[in-house]
Amino acid sequence: MNDVIIIGSGCAGLTAAIYAGRANLSPLVIDGFEPGGQLSLTTMVENFPGFPDGILGPDLIENMRKQAQRFGAEFKAGAVTEVDLSKRPFRITSGKEVYETRALIVASGATARMIGLESEKKLIGYGVSTCATCDGYFFRGKEIAVVGGGDSAMEEANFLSKFASRVYLLHRRPEFRASKIMVDRARANEKIRFVTPVVVEEISDVSKGGVESLKLRNTQTNEITTLPVAGIFIAIGHEPTTKVFRGQLDMDESGYLITHHGSKTNVPGVFAAGDVQDHHYRQAITAAGSGCMAALDAEKFLEANRTFDAGL
Ligand code: NAP
Repeated sequence: MNDVIIIGSGCAGLTAAIYAGRANLSPLVIDGFEPGGQLSLTTMVENFPGFPDGILGPDLIENMRKQAQRFGAEFKAGAVTEVDLSKRPFRITSGKEVYETRALIVASGATARMIGLESEKKLIGYGVSTCATCDGYFFRGKEIAVVGGGDSAMEEANFLSKFASRVYLLHRRPEFRASKIMVDRARANEKIRFVTPVVVEEISDVSKGGVESLKLRNTQTNEITTLPVAGIFIAIGHEPTTKVFRGQLDMDESGYLITHHGSKTNVPGVFAAGDVQDHHYRQAITAAGSGCMAALDAEKFLEANRTFDAGL
């Protein structure tokens, strides 16, 4: 029987583990599909406070993990395959293992949707990015591309135009899913050039370890063109990792967990932190902050239920 299980080992989960560990709750962290979360897929992180020269995403995650271990957090590899939150203790299944816990923190994150190219996978962090706020600064004075036709793509294109000399907005259809005001704003920005209807078929040059150009296919004419750019931002949406919680935890229409009064979900004793409940800010520092909140809320919950829990 555990006091606290934390699902997910990104910024939110690890911060929750540090706080829960320091509260003597010996948290058990189940790593999840993507140990380390989205930070483990980035290179330099320059906006996490406390690192004036920046820090590599994987190093930041490794530091947090060590810090959590120092306070007694235990880690288990593997993803959660089933949960039973109908009564306490909650039952968490990961493959063949079944764990019981008095409180649960869900920090299973969200995954940026990707185009699905091999070159995209190889160059992530080396010119391919899913976060304009994190990486825009690296492309000062360069020509770059943003893929997508939703509000995120418009917002990222506008944001990136502060740094880049030119932003090509690439979308697979001539129409946009984004709200009119966002499209109009991007169209009015003289640094942004709309290129539609195109799909990215290849990102070059993997052999050189960086982005140099994109192979584009016009979806109406099938014409192939090459677009020289130094970076490409993929802004085609995110998928929260919440499938196993369906029917048990309240979520919005996109599958993000709904929290109230800080990190509380609809099930008392279950808390949520990080991108799994935040499709708006999605920053390492906001995820870390909400991980802290979830651990404090879990600690308070356990304290309030101590007498009842003694019988569990
Ligand atoms: P989204 O609305 O789901 O849009 C995703 C875009 O990516 C669509 O244009 C889609 O094309 C395209 N796409 C999806 N899969 C693709 C693929 N495999 N290859 C190429 N293109 C692909 O996602 P989002 O823009 O991240 O927005 C998510 C939610 O957050 C929305 O509700 C949005 O309004 C909200 N949001 C609001 C703001 C704001 O108001 N400031 C800012 C950001 C986000 P199709 O259109 O052809 O399907």
